[in-house]
Amino acid sequence: MVRGLAILGATGSIGRQTLDVVRAHPERLRVEVVSAHSDVNALLAIAKEFSVRRVAVRDGQQAEIVRDALPAAQVMWGDGALAEAALSPGVDLVVNAVVGSAGIRPTLAALDAGVDVALANKETVVAAGQLVVTAARRSGARIIPVDSEHSAIAQCLKGYSPDDVASLLLTASGGPFRTASADRLRTVTVSDALAHPTWRMGAKNTIDSATLMNKGLEVIEAHFLFSIPYHNIDVVVHPQSIIHSLVAFRDGSMLAQLSVPDMRLPIQYAIFESDGRVEAPWERLDLTQVAKLTFEAPDTARFPALNLAYRCGEAGGSYPAVMNAANEVAAMAFMAGQLDFLGIAGIVERVIDSHDSVTPLTLDDVLAVDHWARVRARALITERGRSV
Ligand code: NDP
Ligand code: MG
Repeated sequence: MVRGLAILGATGSIGRQTLDVVRAHPERLRVEVVSAHSDVNALLAIAKEFSVRRVAVRDGQQAEIVRDALPAAQVMWGDGALAEAALSPGVDLVVNAVVGSAGIRPTLAALDAGVDVALANKETVVAAGQLVVTAARRSGARIIPVDSEHSAIAQCLKGYSPDDVASLLLTASGGPFRTASADRLRTVTVSDALAHPTWRMGAKNTIDSATLMNKGLEVIEAHFLFSIPYHNIDVVVHPQSIIHSLVAFRDGSMLAQLSVPDMRLPIQYAIFESDGRVEAPWERLDLTQVAKLTFEAPDTARFPALNLAYRCGEAGGSYPAVMNAANEVAAMAFMAGQLDFLGIAGIVERVIDSHDSVTPLTLDDVLAVDHWARVRARALITERGRSV
């Protein structure tokens, strides 16, 4: 059976690697709909190469450009466009490769309608974890993780029940500043932070990896995806990024999943998950080349974002959504030169400290909290800029 894909965020790092998976399996996959946010030219090239007839863009101006270039295409734009794209006819699986909380709406729309989602967009699970899990349970649709750590855990958990599990162990590369002193962290630049040692990712995810907020987001993501309490989710730094995560079982055994650090592997696994293992044409892991795998504890004094995430996860309610939105704003401000590196976790902490939790019951509740945290973070960044 040919599987129809909606690829949301097709122009980004995960989106492009998803297209590589399609190129490797043209007889089994068909791209029904793609979306972009700013790179309309790249979107047009993708639509032409994969003969895609439906596209979603940010605004009406972009929609005009697409209509001129692809007169036969159906073009969606505006606030509801991603959700509409996710519900397009012929879509069997939505690959959500959008960055940030913009991914919440289409994920929920797909799950509500009973459509499976291969989810790279971890911010969705962090900000709207309970809603997303409940929507999937209600409709029977599946959330299949694309994030390499969660893909690894899902693979290790196959055939086991939650009662078999003692704990989850998420691996972290440690990012570009793993060995940097606390003093050095005061002066690191955007290009230092973007130089990730093992993974090539979009800018926001790379900055999150440098602060370890990425691992914090992933701890919360793991809690919701696998229903494991926070005190049974641990993080270990593993600089080679060969073991993508592990599960510890109650009998003392651990299972790990290993591969070269190549996101096409977890993307392909997610797309074909119900078909078992499918041939992949990319580089294989050669353990004799790797030679050595090392592990160390994360340094939560130099990288406070990880503990902030545990704190928000444990506190529950709207705290994870607030942390996520404040972090998006702070990471973007760092990239724009408006905030120093240590200021990212600093701003997130201040936004969390000034938040009174509510229980977000609906999508609108989540979006309202997200908006509040963004406004608050921007105000604190401006204030911090004035006092420097
Ligand atoms: P990129 O920045 O490379 O790509 C983001 C994609 O989302 C682009 O297609 C972009 O469009 C689109 N986009 C950006 N902002 C918006 C918005 N406000 N509304 C709608 N679409 C938008 O990110 P990545 O591919 O690196 O990451 C995507 C997601 O996957 C993130 O949640 C990330 O955490 C997660 N992830 C990424 C990994 C990686 O290796 N890259 C690994 C694990 C998880 P355009 O380019 O046209 O502006
Ligand atoms: Mg990851």
